[in-house]
Amino acid sequence: MRCVDVVELVTEYAEGRLSPGERPRFQLHLGGCGGCRAYVRQMRATVRALGRIERPAPSGEIEGELVRRFRRWSPAAPSVADDRETNRRVR
Ligand SMILES: [Zn+2]
Repeated sequence: MRCVDVVELVTEYAEGRLSPGERPRFQLHLGGCGGCRAYVRQMRATVRALGRIERPAPSGEIEGELVRRFRRWSPAAPSVADDRETNRRVR
C-alpha cells in the first residue's frame, strides 16, 4: 500500500468501513510511515468532531485536495505527480 492509497482509504478507515483485507495493509503502512500516521490522526479527529464525513463536493475534488495537503506533510512522498504540480504553478 502506498501513501496515495492511504489518502484514498482514510475516510473508510476513520469510519471503520475498511474491508477485513484492507485494514491490516492500511495499518501496516501506518506502522512505517509517520506522515500517514499524522494524517490519519487528524482525519479521525475530524470524523469525531463531525460525527460523519460530509461530501459536499465531487469526490474527485476532495481527493485532489487531500493529496495536495498530504504532500505538504510528507515531502518525501513519491513524486509521480510533481511535474504536473510544477507546471500548474508556473502557469
Ligand atoms: Zn504513507
